[in-house]
Amino acid sequence: MPKPSEVGPTDALVRIDRAALCGTDLHAYDQSMPVDPGTIMGHEFIGTIVEVGSAVQQFEPGDKVTGACIVSCGTCALCRRGKSGNCPGMRVYGLGVAFGDLPGVHAEYAVTPFADVTLRKINNEKKAEDVLFVGDILTTGYEAVRRSYQPGDAVAIVGAGPVGLCATMSAVALGAGTVAVIDRVPERLAEAERFGAIAINAAETDPQDAVFDLTGWRGADVVVDAVGHPSALETAIRVASAGASINIPGVYIQESLELPIGELWFKGISVKGGGCNLLRYMDEVMALVEAGRLNPSSMISHRMGLSEAEKAYEMFAKREAMKIVFDPTK
Ligand SMILES: [Zn+2]
Ligand SMILES: [Zn+2]
Repeated sequence: MPKPSEVGPTDALVRIDRAALCGTDLHAYDQSMPVDPGTIMGHEFIGTIVEVGSAVQQFEPGDKVTGACIVSCGTCALCRRGKSGNCPGMRVYGLGVAFGDLPGVHAEYAVTPFADVTLRKINNEKKAEDVLFVGDILTTGYEAVRRSYQPGDAVAIVGAGPVGLCATMSAVALGAGTVAVIDRVPERLAEAERFGAIAINAAETDPQDAVFDLTGWRGADVVVDAVGHPSALETAIRVASAGASINIPGVYIQESLELPIGELWFKGISVKGGGCNLLRYMDEVMALVEAGRLNPSSMISHRMGLSEAEKAYEMFAKREAMKIVFDPTK
C-alpha cells in the first residue's frame, strides 16, 4: 500500500514491523460486519515510528511501539473514567466506515491517531512478539478477569480460542485459585493446560459438575464467555457461583436472545460486556508482558509474509491456524 502522506498534529506515522490476524478481522472477511472493497484491514501491530505530528510529546521517530486497536480520545468523560471502550469518538483500525473509517495495519505503514494516548513504547525488545497482543486480545482477556477479580478467586473461562487463552494466562498471572477452561477441542484445551489451567472437555463431562467439583460445590467467582454464542453464555451462567461476575469479551451483535434469567437472578450474577477499555488496562498488561509474566507469543502458530495474506485469511477462517503473524517486508 502507498505510504500515507497526511500526518495530523496528534498523529504518528508508524512503519508496521509485525501485524497479527484477529478473530474480529473474520467478521469483515466473511462480511457479517460489512466493509467496502479496498479497505485496509487489521488492527494488531507493533512498529517503528517514522514521523510524529507537531503536538505529539511522548514519542519520536525511531521509537518501537504498539497501540490500542480501539482508538479513543483519552480526554472525554468516559475515557477519563476508564471506560475508553465506550468513547463516543471511538474508532477501530481496518473495520471500515462503521468503525470510523480508519485504515488498518495489514500494510507497510499506518497512521495512528491520538498517538500520546493510544501508543505504548516497547522497552524490552526481546518481548516484542508478546507485546504484539497488548493492544487487543491480551488486554481484552486480561480485563475480562481483572475487572471483577479478587485474589484467590476461582475463574472459569468458556472457550479456549485466543481471547480465552489470554484470559487464562491472565488469571494465572493474577494469582487466581482454581482456573478452569471449558472447550470441546482437545488441542485448545491442551494449550490452556500449558498456561496453568484445568481443562474441562464439554464433549465428555458436564462443565457445571466439573467446576462445582473443583470449587467445593461453590462454582466460579469470575466467569469469562470468550465465545460470544448463546450456548457459551448459558454454560457461563451454570458454572457461576452465587454473586459471581460474568464478563463477556466474546462479541454479540444480535439484538436479543433467550437467557436462563431465573438462574441469573437467583444467583445474583453481574454481567458485563463491551469492547475492551484498553486505555485503562494496557499499562498493567504491558508491565506483565515485559517482565515475562504473560507470554502470549506461544499462541502464534504461523508466521507469514503479508504477500501471503489471502492464504492466511483463508486458513484462519477455516480454523486451521491458532494465530497468524504477518511480516510486512515479505
Ligand atoms: Zn482484534
Ligand atoms: Zn474518549
